[in-house]
Amino acid sequence: MEAEDFKFYMPTRIRFGWGSFQEIRQIVDELKGKRIFLVTGRNFAKKYSLLDKLSNYLKGLTLVVFAEIEENPSIETVDRGAEQCRKSQCDLIISLGGGSGLDAGKAIAMLQRNPGSIREYLDQERACQTKGLPIITIPTTSGTGSEVTPFSVITHKAKKAKPAIAPPQNFPDFALVDPELTMSMPFEVAVSTGLDALCQAVEGFWSTQANPVTRSLAFQAIQLAMENLESACLRKDQESVVNMALASHLTGIEMSNVGNTSIHPLSYPITLDYGVAHGFACAIFLPAVIRFNAQSMENRFKDLLHILNLPSGDAFADKIDSLMKRLKAPRRLSEVGVKAEAIPEIAKRGMGRSTAWNPRPMTEEDIIQICKTIL
Ligand code: NAD
Repeated sequence: MEAEDFKFYMPTRIRFGWGSFQEIRQIVDELKGKRIFLVTGRNFAKKYSLLDKLSNYLKGLTLVVFAEIEENPSIETVDRGAEQCRKSQCDLIISLGGGSGLDAGKAIAMLQRNPGSIREYLDQERACQTKGLPIITIPTTSGTGSEVTPFSVITHKAKKAKPAIAPPQNFPDFALVDPELTMSMPFEVAVSTGLDALCQAVEGFWSTQANPVTRSLAFQAIQLAMENLESACLRKDQESVVNMALASHLTGIEMSNVGNTSIHPLSYPITLDYGVAHGFACAIFLPAVIRFNAQSMENRFKDLLHILNLPSGDAFADKIDSLMKRLKAPRRLSEVGVKAEAIPEIAKRGMGRSTAWNPRPMTEEDIIQICKTIL
């Protein structure tokens, strides 16, 4: 087999390990942080004592807390955070949370050294010129891998869309992944975010942009997610919780270089119009898109199906569908409120730049047909 030419870039330093949150002080000191701006969600960090622990670890330093990040963070929240960060004159950002907190933190860091509103960057009126404030990302869900990506996905209410910025300067400086922090996820959040990791892994695996490095990461992430998602959600045993954190993290590393394909853009109208959590909005399409792609993937799927002990792409789709059923994830669009007449609009808004990287070309008409099979 002839080796492919490829490029790969990962400037983020990584510490992964159960209990590693307590090493935060060492990392802050290495980055020479004295005034720390914390970006996090509205409730859980306080509720589960993460704020208390953090201020204890950072004793002697100044900690300014911005705990206002909502799910699918908005332009308004990011701009407000950026303004408060500027006023606080902090020299380092820590963002602690699921993908929402991490994406917002990265955008706020970028805006400290680049002028204007995040909207201007999302609308491509401005481009990021220089690296923002140093940032440490600490994930508390196992789904997005955002701790190691340059993406900030932000809700643009006026456009009813979730565009992203992804300048290379937006890679975090340090990702601290402590799977123990994910133990407090409610069942629904664990299922939804875990399914997001599985979707990202599958999309990364079959992307036409994939290369040998990203494909290996995606391959391992699929295997980890298929073998551990159910027990990580139902039994929460340490081994499967760590393996889901690893699956999510590996998808982040691969996705940072190749992005997603057709499923992620499809999720955005489902989240925006029907209030469905990001991972559920992605996964609802996963089995149907696997069936759609299976015939153009026969060679690529061979090793994966062998490892998973499955005879065909259809059997892979069936297995994920029954996993979703056992985990009580929505599997039909009608379950989340979608009516047949909304499908053409979903197909129109559900096509993004990365749809072109689907292994089988996918048209608006194909998406309409896919949506009909899962209505
Ligand atoms: P989230 O960050 O929106 O969190 C979901 C909910 O879980 C929130 O209410 C949050 O407060 C709560 N939560 C988070 N961690 C918790 C914990 N340990 N204990 C208890 N509650 C906890 O969910 P998410 O799925 O991680 O992130 C979704 C966002 O990430 C979307 O906006 C999506 O578009 C974006 N995303 C970004 C990337 C990227 O590379 N930047 C990739 C995929 C998705």
